[in-house]
Amino acid sequence: MDEKAKKLIAEAKESIESAMSLQGLEEVRVKYLGKKGEITQALRSLSKYPQEERPAIGRYLNEARETVEGMIEKRRGEIAAIELEMRLKAEEVDVTLPGKRPSIGARHPISVVYEELELIFGHMGFQVYEGPDVELDYNNFEALNVPRNHPSRDIQDTFYISQDLVLRTHTTCVDIRIMKAQKPPIRAIIPGKVYRFDAVDPSHLPVFHQLDGLVVDEGITFGDVKGVLARFAREFFGPDTEVRFRPSYFPFTEPSAEMDVSCVLCHGSGCRLCKYTGWLEILGSGLLHPKVLKEVGFDPEDVSGLAFGMGVDRVSVLKYGIEDIRLLVENDMAFNLQFIHA
Ligand SMILES: [Zn+2]
Repeated sequence: MDEKAKKLIAEAKESIESAMSLQGLEEVRVKYLGKKGEITQALRSLSKYPQEERPAIGRYLNEARETVEGMIEKRRGEIAAIELEMRLKAEEVDVTLPGKRPSIGARHPISVVYEELELIFGHMGFQVYEGPDVELDYNNFEALNVPRNHPSRDIQDTFYISQDLVLRTHTTCVDIRIMKAQKPPIRAIIPGKVYRFDAVDPSHLPVFHQLDGLVVDEGITFGDVKGVLARFAREFFGPDTEVRFRPSYFPFTEPSAEMDVSCVLCHGSGCRLCKYTGWLEILGSGLLHPKVLKEVGFDPEDVSGLAFGMGVDRVSVLKYGIEDIRLLVENDMAFNLQFIHA
C-alpha cells in the first residue's frame, strides 16, 4: 500500500506541475480530490481492507490527500503569478512609440481675414453689423439710388427670389438698415456673403464675401475716406503699402473712387499679378450720395457720410498669394491647414 500511495502521489505531482492554467489545475484537483477523485474513492473503500491494515492505509491516504492539496495550492499561486505576468506583458504600453496626432480642423482663410479686418477697423472705432442674405430689393437697390429701370441694375447679375426679394448683391444694403435704425454718429462695418450670377472661373464665384464700411457724422469729407482706407491698407498689406484713388462711379456715392494699393508682389515695379501697372485694385469708396441720406431720413445739410466696400476673397487671395479663388471653396485640408497659424 505504501508503494501504491507513493505512486498515486507521484502521478498527482506530475499532473499538478504540468498544469499550465488555473482551469487545468482544477481538472487535476477533481481527478484526485473531487467527489469521485482517486484519493477520495480510495479513502471511501477502506472497508475493503482487513481491519488491522485500515489505520495504516488510512494514514497514507490522508497524508497523500494533504500532500496533493498542498501541491495544488502551491501550483495555484505559481500559475496566478504567471498569468498576471502574461497579462501585464500583453497590456504593456510602449511609451517610446510616436503618438498619433489627432486630425484637427483649421480656420478658413476667409475667416482669418475677416477677423483681421474686424480688428483693424475695430481699432478705428467701427462696430460690426450683419444683415440677412435674402434682402428686399428696396434695400439692395432702390434705397441705394438704383431705381427699377436704372441701367446699372443688370438683371443678369442678380438672383431674384421674387419681384421684391433678391439674394443681396452687396453688403451695402445693410447700410440702409443701419441708417434707418439709428442716428449719427455711425461707424459700421458689415461682413457677409453676397451673390451674383457669375460663371465660376479662377477669379469669380457666384457666392463671395464682402466687407462694407459706413461712416455718418457731421462734416465727413473725402479726406476721411482717404485717411480710413490708407490706414487699413498699411495695416493689412504692410506699412510700406502705397494707395491711390481713381475717380469712379457708384450710384450711391458722390464723388466715387476706386482705391488701388501698390502691388503686393512687385511693390510697384510691375509684374504679372498687377498686369505690369504696379497697382492692384482693392475697393470702391466715396461720399454717400445726398439722395441716399434723404432716403433714410437724414438731412444732407446736417450730416454727411462715407461708404466703402471690398471683396474679401480678393484681398485674401492677394494677401496670401492664392492663385485660384476656387481653392477658397474646395475645402482641401492641405490648403486650409496652411492658414492654421495665420
Ligand atoms: Zn506687381
